[in-house]
Amino acid sequence: MKSWPSPSLPSPVSTTPTTVNAHDTARDRVVPVGTESGTARLYVCGITPYDATHMGHAFTYVTFDLLNRAWRDAGLQVSYTQNVTDVDDPLLERATATGVDWADLAEEQTDLFREDMTALRVIPPERYVGAVEAIPEVGTLVERLAKAGYVYQVDDEYRDWYFTTTRAAGFGEVSSYDRATMLDVFAERGGDPDRTGKRDPLDCLVWRLEREGEPAWESPLGRGRPGWHIECTAIALETLGESFDVQGGGTDLLFPHHEMSAAEAVAATGEPFAKAYVHVAMVGLDGEKMSKSKGNLVLVSRLREQGVDPMAIRLVLLGHHHLTEWSWTSADLDANVARLASWRAAVSGATSVDAEETVRAVRAAVADDLHADRALEVIDGWAAASSQASSDEPGARQTVRDLVDGLLGVAL
Ligand SMILES: [Zn+2]
Repeated sequence: MKSWPSPSLPSPVSTTPTTVNAHDTARDRVVPVGTESGTARLYVCGITPYDATHMGHAFTYVTFDLLNRAWRDAGLQVSYTQNVTDVDDPLLERATATGVDWADLAEEQTDLFREDMTALRVIPPERYVGAVEAIPEVGTLVERLAKAGYVYQVDDEYRDWYFTTTRAAGFGEVSSYDRATMLDVFAERGGDPDRTGKRDPLDCLVWRLEREGEPAWESPLGRGRPGWHIECTAIALETLGESFDVQGGGTDLLFPHHEMSAAEAVAATGEPFAKAYVHVAMVGLDGEKMSKSKGNLVLVSRLREQGVDPMAIRLVLLGHHHLTEWSWTSADLDANVARLASWRAAVSGATSVDAEETVRAVRAAVADDLHADRALEVIDGWAAASSQASSDEPGARQTVRDLVDGLLGVAL
């Protein structure tokens, strides 16, 4: 497991039980997530570390940080696993194109990602697991699937291992896509529907045998490396067990990644992979899709270098709901720099505005499908009223400061 030093964690501030709700993509409605007491289990798909963290990544991990904090605020323990796909085609291609060692590139970009997340005050996952270190678990899982008749070797020059996706019970229930859509999206997002020797175009790679010049590891399946979906299935089952509470990631992971990870888990265990699938919308720049190929990535690290307060970046992210696509703009950043200043003035100045209703409203907004956007407006209202206050009540200021710190993750 890779280390990720933990900052001080917020302690629960809620004294009344709160049920946290979130939109489950599989059922297409808002449902209670987590557990009534004890430990909530969360898996969020991590980065492929070949490039710096852009605003789309930051929006995803801050959204799940909000879920983590909402559960903690409700008095639950949280068991959180995130992976890092530290060996995969895009990483190897970038390393080759730029003439660097793939493992050095992965390590460097993983470090930068953790620095960005720490600056944004994202609570680290308990377990941060690389694909390379999960290779024994992947091997065990593929053997288990082989015994149950769910994997086969393609009849081709390299006899790679594939999973019989469409035979798995419940396949298609995460995305609800029809077959034609699945085939289109699979081809767009790293799939190989036309690979020679597959039994079904939607079958997905679970173990790629060694090619010259590519890294490979010993395995009962032959020397090679894991496929992407099976990496997350193996890590999640190993660290969280069956039917954990929430599987999370960006909407670009819904299909094929989450659909196929879930199908592999169901085939291996007979149990649902996760109880709910929560997805985070894409972030654009000035109305355009943000992508490496367009060269319009807004990077957290670059903004930090320019001296932008990471708490203002976090406020921009919290100001948008996870189901709605939005665009990064400098006007939005400016507005949140001003918002941060007004909140800091309010908790440092004098206020006689009671905090109790503010706490209740913020907690309700976050528990209602992670509507931090509404929570920010509640704090805006408290800060505006406080600026008119004629007397002071230090306890109220401290209560709001703790609430904003613990539940929203913004240090004032
Ligand atoms: Zn994943």
